[in-house]
Amino acid sequence: MRFEDQRETLLSELHEMGIRDELVFSAFRSIQREDFVLSHVREFAYRNQALPIEEGQTISQPYIIALMMQELELEPNDVVLEIGTGSGYQTSLLATIVSTVCTIERHFSLTEKAKQTIAKYSFKNIFYKVGDGTKGWINSYPPVKEFNKIIVCAGAPSVSEALLNQLKIGGKLVIPVGNREQQRLKIIIKTETGFSEKQSVACSFVPLLGELGWEKS
Ligand code: SAH
Repeated sequence: MRFEDQRETLLSELHEMGIRDELVFSAFRSIQREDFVLSHVREFAYRNQALPIEEGQTISQPYIIALMMQELELEPNDVVLEIGTGSGYQTSLLATIVSTVCTIERHFSLTEKAKQTIAKYSFKNIFYKVGDGTKGWINSYPPVKEFNKIIVCAGAPSVSEALLNQLKIGGKLVIPVGNREQQRLKIIIKTETGFSEKQSVACSFVPLLGELGWEKS
């Protein structure tokens, strides 16, 4: 089956699993996942599963990506912070919907590869940083202090205070929290008086390593 047809089959599967946000579907239609995976697993690009990328990391499972994006209720004017650029796949999906995506990755080589893969889409609204994303977007260009939405694509031991501080009032953070192998998605909304929180599905991300994440082992 052609990749386009496989992509439509995957989108039907995501719909059956409860994804309804039309912006999310149109983002998935605009970006070719087969470009973001290692060549030996390219034929599996539209399976609903995580796949290996360089540096022992993974490109996240399409359902979890779609769910995180849907939970964030993305809007065209949003300025979004993404922690864990990885292959750049989710970065590109976000960039088709929102006004600005600031993305942080701890591996220089992954950021460079992601930039190359994404180049063909000519996005002007993605800003990259190599470093520890658990501390958020500090001393970086553009100098955004607070984000409408923050999305963490690696499993955290707890919710980083630094990230909560960089969320606007009314803003949303989605983050997998748990142990190194298994987590549960948490959706946190910053309110005038504090935070409201809800739990979503179980998931399994690579660990978030850094000062406010896991120690490197
Ligand atoms: N959304 C990406 C997911 C990549 S996996 C994709 O679909 O391709 C998660 C990524 O988070 C890995 O590339 C890992 O290197 C990165 N990561 C882990 N801890 C990090 C940290 N503290 N700061 C930035 N990136 C981190």
